[in-house]
Amino acid sequence: MNGSIQNDKYIDDREIDRQLKIAGQVKSILSADERFSDVSPKYYIQTLGCQQNEADSERIAGLCALMGYEATEDPSKANIIFVNTCAIREHAEIRAISFIGEYKHIKDKDPSVIIGVGGCMVTQGHRADKIKHGMPYVNFVFDTGSIHRIPELTLSALRGQKRRFLTEGKFGIAENVPFVRKAPHLAWLSVMYGCNNFCSYCIVPYVRGRERSRRADDILKEARHLVESGAKDITLLGQNVNSYGKDTGEGVDFADLLRKICRIDGDFKLRFMTSHPKDASDKLIVAMAEEEKIAKHFHLPVQSGSDRILKAMNRHYDVEKYMSIIEKLKKSVPDVSITSDIIVAFPGETEDDFRKTLDLIDEVKFDALFSFIFSPRTGTPAARMSDQIPKEVSRERFARLLDLANPISLERNSRFVGRTLRVLAEETGKNDPSQITCRADSPRPIHISGPKDLIGNFINVKITKAETFSMNGEIINEV
Ligand code: SAM
Ligand code: SF4
Repeated sequence: MNGSIQNDKYIDDREIDRQLKIAGQVKSILSADERFSDVSPKYYIQTLGCQQNEADSERIAGLCALMGYEATEDPSKANIIFVNTCAIREHAEIRAISFIGEYKHIKDKDPSVIIGVGGCMVTQGHRADKIKHGMPYVNFVFDTGSIHRIPELTLSALRGQKRRFLTEGKFGIAENVPFVRKAPHLAWLSVMYGCNNFCSYCIVPYVRGRERSRRADDILKEARHLVESGAKDITLLGQNVNSYGKDTGEGVDFADLLRKICRIDGDFKLRFMTSHPKDASDKLIVAMAEEEKIAKHFHLPVQSGSDRILKAMNRHYDVEKYMSIIEKLKKSVPDVSITSDIIVAFPGETEDDFRKTLDLIDEVKFDALFSFIFSPRTGTPAARMSDQIPKEVSRERFARLLDLANPISLERNSRFVGRTLRVLAEETGKNDPSQITCRADSPRPIHISGPKDLIGNFINVKITKAETFSMNGEIINEV
């Protein structure tokens, strides 16, 4: 280990080894169980929320595989069920609670089923308490810092020991936890965890701890392994990737890291999210412009077009600064796709503030917007602000925002019609299984017809039609 690095932010390798050994014990118990003499025990993971949760679920899956469980897509066939929860908005919490309730019915039929609940929602003490006292069928709860302890939790549950609640809020980096990816060609790669920004509306710093970057060498090793095992599209993850490396003492910032990953041999695309405008550097924009492997897509959440609201949100930039980044981006990276997040009806937002947000959207012309109605999160400053916006006003503003943003998205997607793009054939169409969903640099899905064995390959596709949220295309040839 590099001596200049703060090693205390890492979970001790010996603890990870201990958990991996316990996984072996679980496997032995399961293989001695006559219920599993003909069929393997099964795991099911319900993942809610963002890409970070998706990446965490890949770790949960990796640990399940090590314990001898096989994946199932059907929760009613599972012997162990995980709900990986989200807390970013109330709606996500309601969904998590409803899933847990649904799995209770499965357990009613077979009391040996183990239910584990993890993720951001249960990292909040009041939510973990609710499960402790109101959902006795949940065997264990693990916060976002305790995923590596799933083998220990599973072993306790299998032995019928008392329910466990790991909600200590210790957020270290756990290296060497195995993972199982949903598809070999698509990969999440966490470069850092947590957040220091404390935007006044956001629960993330409370449920994922302070910012901690992984060592560049560990990330490169993982990236190399991903490429060698068939990854064609790698998305680097962090709540604020632009501040990557501030705590490693290695002198490698995010733009340097991107360039190092681009030097890995192989045909792959590199994406990243999320960038915070206060830290988006010129160096990063230059790296995107120069490096062929970096997808020309920048997700830069603005949240509001009003300086007054940005200040109340504790975002540390103003509209002028945001627009200057957008200008540089458009100038330096031709044909770049720009996407953003917006919060509508933040406490105290006036009609004038909201109009400024609409003006900004109209000026930037985002390829896609992820817009959310403000949702008060217990424990955050914005939830305590007195001037909350009535529901009717939020809904009306939200609808007006979509009325503006959707035609812009359609117009942006239309620029590709008639062009041939190099795309990755990602997966079978979700709405139409006869189709394949592909992706070029723009994050918008492109639907094509074609043989399923193209999935996982780069192909050339001519865009034939643009819709608001997707495009249609036809295969030109495989490349
Ligand atoms: N770290 C990223 C950033 O700062 O842009 C985003 C993290 S968050 C998972 C994704 C988006 O959820 C945010 O950009 C914001 O628009 C939205 N969000 C976060 N807290 C919210 C809240 N309390 N109510 C509504 N939307 C919220
Ligand atoms: Fe939340 Fe702000 Fe951190 Fe993003 S930067 S995770 S919005 S606190």
